Amino acid sequence: MPDLVRYRCPSCGYSLNVEYTASGEGVEAKETASRQIIEMEKGLYGQEERDFFDRHPDGAISNEMALYQCQECGALSNRPKLNLYVLKKDMKPIKGRCFTNCTLATGFDLMRSYPHTCQVCGGDVMMVADYRNYHRSMVMCPEGDDLLTILEE
Ligand SMILES: [Zn+2]
Ligand SMILES: [Zn+2]
Repeated sequence: MPDLVRYRCPSCGYSLNVEYTASGEGVEAKETASRQIIEMEKGLYGQEERDFFDRHPDGAISNEMALYQCQECGALSNRPKLNLYVLKKDMKPIKGRCFTNCTLATGFDLMRSYPHTCQVCGGDVMMVADYRNYHRSMVMCPEGDDLLTILEE
C-alpha cells in the first residue's frame, strides 16, 4: 500500500501531497513498470536507457516512488526512481517485468541511477525522501523560507 503524505510549509502555506511506494507494490505497479520499460526500449527516456534494454533484455527497473528536489530552483516532484538493474551473475532470468524491492535486492545488481532533471527549469534534482526515510527526512520549501512539516492524517 502506498503511503500518502501531506506536506505543508508553516511560513508560506505551500502544500504538496506525496506518494511513497516501494517498487512493485500498489495496484498499478505491474502496469506502470511494463509501460516504463516499453517507453525506455523505445528511447523515450534517452539513449542510455534504450541501449540498456538492448543489452539486458532481462534487466529491471525500480518504480519505487520518491520525492525529488531541484538543486537549482527548489521545485519538488514526486516520481518513480527508474533506476536500472541487471540480473545477478548466475541468476536465472526472473519472470515478469515488475519487481518488488526485495526481488531487486536479492536477484539484481544496481547498474545505473536514472538521472532525473527538473520539469520546471531542467536543473539537476536530488532525491530528498523515499518510503524508508521520509519520517526523518527534512524537506525544504521550494520558496526556501522554511522546512516543510508533515500533516498528520
Ligand atoms: Zn514556504
Ligand atoms: Zn528546477
